[in-house]
Amino acid sequence: MRFPFALTKKIASHIIKHKLCKTPKFAMVQLEPLHTCNLTCTGCGRIREYSTSLKDMVPLEKCLGAALECDAPMVSICGGEPLIYPRIEELINGLLDQGRVIYVCTNGMFMRKKMKDYLAAIYSPEIEPKLKKLLDDKLISDKEAEAIRAADGAAKKKAVIRPTQWMYWNVHVDGLEFTHDLIVEREGVFKECVAAIRMAKILGYQVATNTTVYKETEVQEIEDMFKFLSSLEVDGHTISPGYDYDAAKKDMVKRLGKDPKAFFLTRDMTRQKFAKIEDWGKAFTIFGTVVYQEFLAGKRELTCTAWAIPTYNIRGWKGPCYLMTDGHYNSYQELLEKVQWDKYGVVNGKARDPRCEHCMVHCGYDPSGALGTNYQSGDNWKNIKHNFWPRPAAYPYSPDLEKRAFNGVSIGKGHLAEAKAAINSPAAGARGAFSQKEEAHVGSHCGTNEADEPK
Ligand code: SF4
Ligand code: SF4
Repeated sequence: MRFPFALTKKIASHIIKHKLCKTPKFAMVQLEPLHTCNLTCTGCGRIREYSTSLKDMVPLEKCLGAALECDAPMVSICGGEPLIYPRIEELINGLLDQGRVIYVCTNGMFMRKKMKDYLAAIYSPEIEPKLKKLLDDKLISDKEAEAIRAADGAAKKKAVIRPTQWMYWNVHVDGLEFTHDLIVEREGVFKECVAAIRMAKILGYQVATNTTVYKETEVQEIEDMFKFLSSLEVDGHTISPGYDYDAAKKDMVKRLGKDPKAFFLTRDMTRQKFAKIEDWGKAFTIFGTVVYQEFLAGKRELTCTAWAIPTYNIRGWKGPCYLMTDGHYNSYQELLEKVQWDKYGVVNGKARDPRCEHCMVHCGYDPSGALGTNYQSGDNWKNIKHNFWPRPAAYPYSPDLEKRAFNGVSIGKGHLAEAKAAINSPAAGARGAFSQKEEAHVGSHCGTNEADEPK
């Protein structure tokens, strides 16, 4: 099977239950317990939209309460960087206790630290073969292995993130080394993500990756990236088009001095980039429905169902969607009742709100495929086949593939270098863009850079 049976069963039963009860709207949740991040990725509107409240966090009890109220079978813990959230272990364990499937959407920089905490908590001589493998593969140092062996009572009692079939690390990977480091605006991030993925697989965690495709992302690179990630035995991939929503667009102009049109995809461009997505879906374990893949490839229209993947953050339930903010609401029910859903999305190629015109993102349209919105005969069979058919085999690993993946660090050669030049140009000054000195401040304000180690 493409996905673990228990997981497929849980999500399918949730949908069937609500269909039978004729519940008009129901959800899979995105939880953002904080917006602080250690990175400042180009195109991330999140750290920019909430730049004045980056230090605020949703209390653990409120996060758990929101998940209970919404009762979604699946919760994506996003951010910011969720591994900076001080009670992330308790949050994950609390959601698991509620019986939910968890995706921890991370930039990968703190994953190895969290997995070392787990090893310290469970250490016994029986795990020595795993430690040896991690040491041989240079995923931990001798000093770290010693610290794991010497873990004291406090380390043993600490809440940790354990491998389970109900949880996925969902690692942000936007391309191979050059592109990824360029987009996250920091050298070495791709390398760390790959090390974290390798360590997670050795320890028995489930690992997914999520990729946003931008205008400058080459189709060939996406395929090479899937091959490489598949060779690492990653369990699945989410892929979505980069879309120029307000906060990201404003940041692009103000901080980077770039035209958003050079970076984000229009609908037509998305269809070109995703023309081969159905082939990718056969060769690799792409998450999401076949119907959504057909939509991305331009073979059909879908209506946005943003209410099905609502976002809960420090200001409440965000409406209408993950990307656009026209209001925050105290409860999921209030969000459902107060947002005028028929004012959003694109219907038969016509945008009901101009801001939706080029949007084809998974949090708006992937649920439409699962929920049977715009149902066409045969869709159910396609979705069942996709989920229950055997999972594509892992792509064979080769040193050549690895060499192609590590295709050079780009920092200083790409957006950032261009951006700094643009920021310091007389034209940018006249436009009111930040100076390079000020930009460094923006970097430390948005993605903290000060929070390099989660507590
Ligand atoms: S890792 Fe990048 S995309 Fe994710 S929250 Fe941080 S800055 Fe945004
Ligand atoms: S189409 Fe839906 S998900 Fe996309 S921006 Fe509009 S409301 Fe949000």
